[in-house]
Amino acid sequence: MSGFTFTPATKEQVPDPRRSRVQSTPGVDRFMNKIRISDSGCWDWTGTIQSAGYGMTTLHGRRMLSHRASLTIWAPGMSLDGLQVDHLCRNKTCVNPWHLEPVTQAENLRRQGEAVTHCPSGHEYTPENTYRSPKQPNCRRCRTCARERQLKGGRA
Ligand SMILES: [Zn+2]
Ligand SMILES: [Zn+2]
Repeated sequence: MSGFTFTPATKEQVPDPRRSRVQSTPGVDRFMNKIRISDSGCWDWTGTIQSAGYGMTTLHGRRMLSHRASLTIWAPGMSLDGLQVDHLCRNKTCVNPWHLEPVTQAENLRRQGEAVTHCPSGHEYTPENTYRSPKQPNCRRCRTCARERQLKGGRA
């Protein structure tokens, strides 16, 4: 993995970006002026929002997603190459670096998959009803569906 995670912060622990040790540049100041800190501690992006629902900004002359720009500012030196940024708070417009975690695409897909609670046929993925193949431990199979397939196969 990236080897880099922020410590989750409560609202009280969220630093005031304008009094932080992050070096103030015109680009960083412009960025910080476009956030609004919500009660949940999210830094809501008040600038441009692109079609997928994420904030967009220009930092150091480059057009980028606002939450990626946030990590560029708050975690200088961290490479985001080939990584996706997961919103731990599930708030797409949040740019709070403590709510963001760079993950591989595989990990991001796994997390999205874990958010699914039922199989395509509507059976719940309970521990009893879930089977994971040793070859694909990240992929869940529904035991009820597998049983139904077997029964159908037996009749044929
Ligand atoms: Zn957030
Ligand atoms: Zn099923």
